[in-house]
Amino acid sequence: NAPLTLRDIFVAGRAHGEKTFLVYEDERASFEAFSRATLALAGNLIRGGVRPGDRVAIAMRNLPEWPVAFFAALLAGAVATPLNAWWTGPELDHGFTDSGASVAIVDEERWARIADRRSGYPALTRVLIARAEAAPGTESLTDIIGPVADWGGLPEGRIPAIAIGPDDVATLFYTSGTTGRSKGAIGTHRAGASGVMAHPFSAARAFLRRGEPVPVPDPSAPQKVGLLSIPLFHVTGCFATLVPNLHRGGRLVMMRRWDLARALALIERERCTSAGGVPTIAFQLLDGMAAGTHDLSSLETISYGGAPAPADLVRRLRAAFPNAQPATGWGMTETTATFTHHQGEDYVHRPDSCGPALPVCDAKVMDPEEKPLPPGEVGELWVKGPIVIAGYWNRPDADAAVFRDGWLRTGDLARIDPEGFITIVDRAKDMLIRGGENIYCAEVEGVLYDHPSVVDAAVVGIPHPTLGEEPAAVVAIARGAEASEEELRAFVAARLAAFKVPVRILLHDEILPRNANGKILKGDLKTLF
Ligand code: ATP
Ligand code: MG
Repeated sequence: NAPLTLRDIFVAGRAHGEKTFLVYEDERASFEAFSRATLALAGNLIRGGVRPGDRVAIAMRNLPEWPVAFFAALLAGAVATPLNAWWTGPELDHGFTDSGASVAIVDEERWARIADRRSGYPALTRVLIARAEAAPGTESLTDIIGPVADWGGLPEGRIPAIAIGPDDVATLFYTSGTTGRSKGAIGTHRAGASGVMAHPFSAARAFLRRGEPVPVPDPSAPQKVGLLSIPLFHVTGCFATLVPNLHRGGRLVMMRRWDLARALALIERERCTSAGGVPTIAFQLLDGMAAGTHDLSSLETISYGGAPAPADLVRRLRAAFPNAQPATGWGMTETTATFTHHQGEDYVHRPDSCGPALPVCDAKVMDPEEKPLPPGEVGELWVKGPIVIAGYWNRPDADAAVFRDGWLRTGDLARIDPEGFITIVDRAKDMLIRGGENIYCAEVEGVLYDHPSVVDAAVVGIPHPTLGEEPAAVVAIARGAEASEEELRAFVAARLAAFKVPVRILLHDEILPRNANGKILKGDLKTLF
């Protein structure tokens, strides 16, 4: 009775009934109400011509309609295709033409971005706009499912009788595009369902490990309340937050977008038990705690991943939040969210690590000749397991570059200790070689972060005629603090070998530009030099 498809997860979620599932501003939907809206939309999609395997694009901010659109597409047998809400017109062109989506479910802002471009998406036959009147050539999603307050009154609905197997394609998530054009990652139902079961808080973990039946969640246990502050269109928002909470009956307090003041107010108002997302959010929560303006004592877990987290963060969080456990993890779109998990004493004692691989997943470190390296040595991280994607959409070249006998080459440099704890050293592409010496940008950034005036740092390689590349840095200085380029260079020189000291440091007075997933856009920064 292990769920092997995302439809099984939906069915498990429905069993949580009248408990509150989604909270957005003053709107609330129970598990049952969410299920009714989803079934209503799934039926509408099928009647409108959606067939198994068709792509249904979802382009909106974190609204309660997002999970409805996602599961409705899945129940119709279609491929849920979330598009990045930060994308501008040309990027949306790529998402629509690359995926060949036949239906788009959008919010008003996304519609405004594509209204004039839609004629360039020949496959697109229907556009449903959430929370708005129908514009010409579109339909209103509210006409189909009504406002959130009315979802509970929709007819009960039946799960469409469509054959869905574990190996059918369920999702097409786009990678963040940090290293190049964003690629569509093909996720199967098994990958999505396994990720949920392997989730550290899932009672189903035991099943995965030992093949035991999945325990039914205890309905009398206090409900967990998660603050959803990261985008649902990334795997962390969807597969590490939304889907596990649906499965275990957790409540999701949705933020349309991240905003510290709003987050603090919501944690207090809704008594959230978990918050987090990317490391930048964890840092901001530290500031929020220090400000002392809100009661954050309900927090039990602060989790983050997706980008390098300085080793000091776990210590600072433990000191600031005595009741909350810091937790971290590493993953990529290609691993359907988190592939490792790290918390508790293990994390405190190994603050550099992102933890061991999840159950039933495997990791190894390989040298450039694709030979395994012994424990402790740095090489490229290769991963394997049911959560790894089936391949890239329309990109046989990318498939050929990264898949090897069921293993995925991650493009990240890592070491694994004899007990299986993985430490990410850097992206292979975020390393520079200065006259034959390797410099890991993340190491130099970590030292810059230790300087009391520095709030943000990025190291990039800049060309040098004989050495190949040299390190340079852009740092953001805390408001009211001061530091000179010379002082910062001396600070690094006192802690790292001379060849790692950035030859130039540009000072910024604002946090560095990041993409929707909290990653610094290093390509943009290089142009500053
Ligand atoms: P693209 O593949 O399109 O260039 P991307 O790799 O940024 O973009 P994602 O799939 O969103 O797209 O991000 C995965 C990457 O994020 C990993 O390969 C790794 O470099 C980084 N990452 C994730 N978690 C961590 C972590 N805990 N520590 C360090 N880096 C991390
Ligand atoms: Mg990547």
